[in-house]
Amino acid sequence: MRADKRKVVIVGTGMVGMSYAYCLLNQSVCDELVLIDVNKKRAEGEAMDLNHGLAFANSSMTIYAGEYDDCRDADIVVICAGVAQKQGETRLDLLKRNAEVFRSIIEPVTSSGFNGLFLVATNPVDIMTRITCTLSGFNPRRVMGTGTALDTARLRYLLGDYLKADPRNVHAYVMGEHGDSEFVPWSQALLATKPILELCGENGEAVCRQRFDDIEEEVRTAAYKIIEAKNATYYGIGMALTRITKAILGDEHSVLTVSAMLRGEYGQMDVFAGVPCIINQNGVQRVLPLSLTPEELEKLGRSCDTLREGYDGIF
Ligand code: NAD
Repeated sequence: MRADKRKVVIVGTGMVGMSYAYCLLNQSVCDELVLIDVNKKRAEGEAMDLNHGLAFANSSMTIYAGEYDDCRDADIVVICAGVAQKQGETRLDLLKRNAEVFRSIIEPVTSSGFNGLFLVATNPVDIMTRITCTLSGFNPRRVMGTGTALDTARLRYLLGDYLKADPRNVHAYVMGEHGDSEFVPWSQALLATKPILELCGENGEAVCRQRFDDIEEEVRTAAYKIIEAKNATYYGIGMALTRITKAILGDEHSVLTVSAMLRGEYGQMDVFAGVPCIINQNGVQRVLPLSLTPEELEKLGRSCDTLREGYDGIF
């Protein structure tokens, strides 16, 4: 029996933070859940609401609105605080406002003596993750963002739908910035062990390839479409955060496309970007370098340049 409690702290109890919290509760992912928000009353209300669902949950969980001191013995601090993306606004537009929010969060978390992992969802997520790493002074392997985890899930769903196959048997990734410069390395996309591009028979090749490009565009613009329809996206990201949390707390060594610092992989240095990584209880155990084509490497390079420019603009 585990003696230690699996403890998660969420900073930012808005739509994303609480979709994540609700998912953690429904999947019984941790034992103790702390909610922190600049709007303390909101965090308290959310804690009450979740606690009232405990009678229907699969297992018990201690849930309360807390303080930064509560981060001291947490396994993961998950940051969902910030300003939500508005219609027509790019993720990079949010950067300056959210950088200020992070200055007010990271310092009290580290001052508490926190010695766990940071997981970041706030947009623009790759840059906010790098800011978290800089402000905390933590080893970059202990700081990760949701990166292209959600985009990858959207891609697998759409490909599964098109190929009439279970998305769980579709192995394909979205890489780079969680944003406009993200891309799909099609040379690495597989259905079971069959390269997806080989599924385009000789006669149907043009049609098939065009459909893949459409799917890639659909993934890239999904957030804009959802925001246009309902102002914000939160369920999908809540589930992506939960999946990453399970990989960490379960020491799973699962491959997930989180935002991780590149230190020479793909020829890139000192940039956080969405890449397939092996995730375990220590965080990013390692970045898994895929065998990208020269064209795909160029796309990743351009995406990383965009992210470096965004970061350099504020630090
Ligand atoms: P929201 O406005 O509903 O919630 C944000 C919360 O942060 C609010 O409760 C607010 O009080 C809190 N907050 C603001 N400043 C704070 C501070 N200094 N300290 C503590 N708490 C503070 O927004 P949301 O819809 O939950 O979105 C949150 C973030 O997640 C946004 O940046 C959004 O763009 C991002 N997001 C990321 C992804 C992804 O794939 N990574 C997907 C969807 C949304």
